[in-house]
Amino acid sequence: MSLDVQKIRKDFPILSREVNGKPLVYFDNAATSQTPNQVVDAIVDYYHRYNANIHRGVHHLSQQATDAYEEARETIRKHFNIRYKEEVIFTSGTTSGINLVAYGYASSLKKGDEVIVSALEHHSNIVPWQMLCEKTEAILKVIPMTDAGELDMHAYTELLSDKTQLVFVNHVSNALGTINPVEEIIEKAHQFGAQVLIDGAQSASHIKVDLQELDADFYTVSAHKMCGPTGVGILYGKKELLESLPPYQGGGEMIDQVTFEKTTYAGLPHKFEAGTPDICGGIAFAKAIDYLNHIGFENIKHYEDELLAYATEKLLTIEGLKIYGESNRKTSLVSFNIEGIHPYDLGTILDKMGIAVRTGHHCAQPIMDYFKIPGTVRASFYFYNTKEEIDYLIEGIIKAKKMLL
Ligand SMILES: *Cc1c(COP(=O)(O)O)cnc(C)c1O
Repeated sequence: MSLDVQKIRKDFPILSREVNGKPLVYFDNAATSQTPNQVVDAIVDYYHRYNANIHRGVHHLSQQATDAYEEARETIRKHFNIRYKEEVIFTSGTTSGINLVAYGYASSLKKGDEVIVSALEHHSNIVPWQMLCEKTEAILKVIPMTDAGELDMHAYTELLSDKTQLVFVNHVSNALGTINPVEEIIEKAHQFGAQVLIDGAQSASHIKVDLQELDADFYTVSAHKMCGPTGVGILYGKKELLESLPPYQGGGEMIDQVTFEKTTYAGLPHKFEAGTPDICGGIAFAKAIDYLNHIGFENIKHYEDELLAYATEKLLTIEGLKIYGESNRKTSLVSFNIEGIHPYDLGTILDKMGIAVRTGHHCAQPIMDYFKIPGTVRASFYFYNTKEEIDYLIEGIIKAKKMLL
């Protein structure tokens, strides 16, 4: 292992707290990751030293906050290898990024146009498109999934046609951990002139994404899943597409000239950034990206692959345990059930032992319907987790099984 995990864990004070009298084992990283001191310090520093509104003040503090916020945008641009700074739109997270794009397409989609979603999506990458289809009478088509929890790429090819306008797929499934073949999805969609939105909420935390190479038309990210604060994220969009979309919200910051007869909008990225943004959040997000790059995405991937292999092997020794999502391209996440035990009951007992897992449908009900289950127990790992913690989870499950069966 190339990571000094014990040293890294010192950056996350929360990891040494106790829950229910037991050391916390935090395995809910796919819902939100923990925040290192370096990011918390940046938040404190902002409010201690230079909290001010941006882009309008002539005074020193406002200039300092504006500079830091725009520097943060630049850090994010570089990290994702985005061509232009104007293509980085600050949002409140993945959900708002997706809604911004879905809202924008309402004025250009026509009745009978087709849009394609996948069966592996989070609700936030389903519902906004359903709302869009209701408004425009466009038709929503679904790429089916296989028993292994992968997308049926043959079926995808069949769904594409000249009627296809948009395709939206997550890079990594939050419920199963499957890494979808987004490169191929994008390339095929482009052959039909369709645009592709990739929901990157689960990928940006584990994989270094090069957006020029990937060639996605839109990509959305939430900071809180990659060591940043909640309530901030980015939407990447190709410049010419963002220019053609109408603004999502009206207000301050997004205008050029306002009269009661006519308002003209500001250029990118401000056209999509109405109102006072989460200034501190944007700055802290960039700090989180610096932090992750300092550890190194290659190191993170290597270590997480080991954790995943270890957890999978150990879990499968437990009788009656079934893992959902068996792709050989996965991030470090296991979704499972034990025969005869409701996921909620298992999760509750694990919590008593200080182990935080998620139970339920993980905002992906169609996946649960596919497997005909009410939900799963999901343990999602990050680079600060350890094999010892996985051992403790296994012990916990065995104990819980004895209590429940
Ligand atoms: C978490 C998540 C979202 C929603 O992100 P928010 O930060 O809640 O907006 C969307 N898609 C996937 C795949 C997710 O994991």
